[in-house]
Amino acid sequence: MLKIVPVPAFTDNYIWLVHDPDSGETAVVDPGEAAPVLAEIERRGWTVGQVWNTHWHPDHTGGNLALKEATGCTISGPASPRIPGNDRELSEGDAVRIGAHVGRIVEVPGHTLDHIAIIFDDERIAFVGDTLFAMGCGRLFEGTPEQMYASLEKLASLPADTRLYCAHEYTLSNARFAAAAEPDNKDIAVRLDQVRALRDEGRITLPTTVALERATNPFVRASDAERFASLRARKDSFG
Ligand SMILES: [Zn+2]
Repeated sequence: MLKIVPVPAFTDNYIWLVHDPDSGETAVVDPGEAAPVLAEIERRGWTVGQVWNTHWHPDHTGGNLALKEATGCTISGPASPRIPGNDRELSEGDAVRIGAHVGRIVEVPGHTLDHIAIIFDDERIAFVGDTLFAMGCGRLFEGTPEQMYASLEKLASLPADTRLYCAHEYTLSNARFAAAAEPDNKDIAVRLDQVRALRDEGRITLPTTVALERATNPFVRASDAERFASLRARKDSFG
């Protein structure tokens, strides 16, 4: 069983540590900064062997070089010249490995054009970066609504019990928007209350699951790319 640990960074990022107790290996997903990762690793007595990046944005890759320097780890990420220290370019169908566990690479463009997700099918775990958020999705900085809609469909078609590890704590703001977008959706109303209670206590709302997102994420639930595009535009200007 992989152990997944969140490392909060900046104001609302999560850097995910992936630890395999059998091999003793640890990978780091999207280290926007190195210092909090190194502190957590030291606290746990772990050793960083790999960095996996989902996309080039600096709040996901800014710690790459410092981590490599401190630990000698290898860096894998999508083929983008803007990913610092990238040793291995990942594209659809490639794999990353930690101990005996294999993560499959799926391309999910939209937030950026280079964006990938890493899916551990056997473990029902997916690292989805800034593509899908709990009850929301990433902004379209580079891709088209059609691309993003297709990317969300890919993730939402994973088995229902797949746990999704997103890279930001945006759930409360997303839940408020979801409740406005689907005022009659009881699952959204219930989840909004749960998320509000968690955040009042300063607690993390992740990971989410495919089943939860199918029930409460208006972007996943959009019937087509056109409806998705209008929702995304509404969310961009939502308070
Ligand atoms: Zn991003």
